[in-house]
Amino acid sequence: MLVNRHSPIDGRFLESVYYCDKNDVDKAVLKARRAFQSGSWSNKTPKERKEVLKRWGQLLRNHLNELALLETLDSGKPISATTSSDVPGAIDCLEWFAEVIDKTHGAVIPSEQNFLSMVTREPLGVVAAIVPWNYPLLMAMWKLAPSLAMGNSVLLKPSEKTPLSAIYIAKLALEAGLPKDVLTVLPGRGDVGAFLSHHLDIDAISFTGSGKTGRKIMIASASSNLKRVSLELGGKSPNIILPDYPDLKRAARSAAAAIFMNAGAICSAGSRLLLHRNIKEKVLELLLEESQAFQPGDPLNPATTVGAIIDEIHLKYILNGIEKGKKEAKLLLGGKQVRKESGGFYIEPTIFDCPHHKVSIAKEEIFGPVLSVITYDTIEEAIKIANDTEYGLAAAVWSGDTGFGLKIAKDLRAGSVWVNHYDDLSDTNLPFGGYKQSGFGRDNSIHALEKYSEIKATVLYTE
Ligand code: NAD
Repeated sequence: MLVNRHSPIDGRFLESVYYCDKNDVDKAVLKARRAFQSGSWSNKTPKERKEVLKRWGQLLRNHLNELALLETLDSGKPISATTSSDVPGAIDCLEWFAEVIDKTHGAVIPSEQNFLSMVTREPLGVVAAIVPWNYPLLMAMWKLAPSLAMGNSVLLKPSEKTPLSAIYIAKLALEAGLPKDVLTVLPGRGDVGAFLSHHLDIDAISFTGSGKTGRKIMIASASSNLKRVSLELGGKSPNIILPDYPDLKRAARSAAAAIFMNAGAICSAGSRLLLHRNIKEKVLELLLEESQAFQPGDPLNPATTVGAIIDEIHLKYILNGIEKGKKEAKLLLGGKQVRKESGGFYIEPTIFDCPHHKVSIAKEEIFGPVLSVITYDTIEEAIKIANDTEYGLAAAVWSGDTGFGLKIAKDLRAGSVWVNHYDDLSDTNLPFGGYKQSGFGRDNSIHALEKYSEIKATVLYTE
């Protein structure tokens, strides 16, 4: 079925995209399985796979500007971000896994006499990657790079809201020498994801998206072939400023960026700001000032830092959350849709002062430019509030005493914890993923290979 797609920037018609049906999914799985069994990719030496992936990285680099523009038009992200961060980040991830795969070794175990025991890593087979719209290319690459490096055949299901960059990079993969049917992109709605997760001939689903969909995928796996599932889900991450942190302006600037960048559509956004009562007034004054730098603008203007909300459905979801918030907390800034005349979807930076941490605006993931400020009196209370959430994706703590900051970091139940900054270091060496209902399994780093491989023990007996 062909679906007309419009840009969230200004509603302009972008293109018609073919959305797959069950028959397309079945055919793609069959071809991916055949490709895996043929060994055209899975049996290539790690060094050969590395060369192809590196060529692919170079092609992405050659097409960086087109890709960035495509991503901006499709998702409403600012061109400054797609050019400097989204596309280069995806290339970096691809090159990192290309480089790591011929340096990843198995082990020989010291066994009894007459036995030679080896532990090796093998590809799983056919992997489906299902990804969201907030970082379409980057989230896709976080899954493609390790799964392809490992030798799997991969089916990529982009979000129905942002399919373009996935289609574009798949074409470049073929040009780089990736054998046919090793990577297939299946654009479509949630039903395509559901067909994949119920499929009997898929070995693993690597998912990034909402908890609601993550649960459905686990049920589908349990009721089909027990395919491996890894989930990167949502968050409501705490950002704690301790009263001894000396540079409150820096902390306030970072707190604003932590929630307002990407229009708040970041799973690890610092959406809960925990302020000690003694510094609250000062930090709020600075925060209101710093937030002005995050007013949304035309995503195609290189000076713009914050772009559009992905679509009208999500815009309404955020505005509803804000209306609910107004009834339970004090609105300090923003709260309104702006730039309506553009024909696109934009919301101004919004800040609530919450009476306590259990109000819904401080508990539920809004996935928009909405910050909830929570006041605390003691460090113990701050840690308790920070951990009193179903999520556990990220957290940050700011302290003038770095040793103390590290001690607090240990108490925070989250997959990534930042001390005296908020997510300022982008490095593929670092694992990314959640505790609790933020999911399980890790993207990036050597640990990501665990999601895309089986571990085999082979034991030889010799007389
Ligand atoms: P979503 O769950 O609605 O959709 C994600 C993907 O799943 C899309 O491709 C969608 O088509 C597909 N899908 C929908 N129904 C499905 C089904 N029944 N079976 C299989 N697949 C199905 O999420 P979204 O709105 O696209 O993304 C926002 C969410 O993603 C937020 O909760 C955010 O926190 C989370 N996220 C997490 C991370 C992370 O690394 N932890 C990163 C980015 C986004």
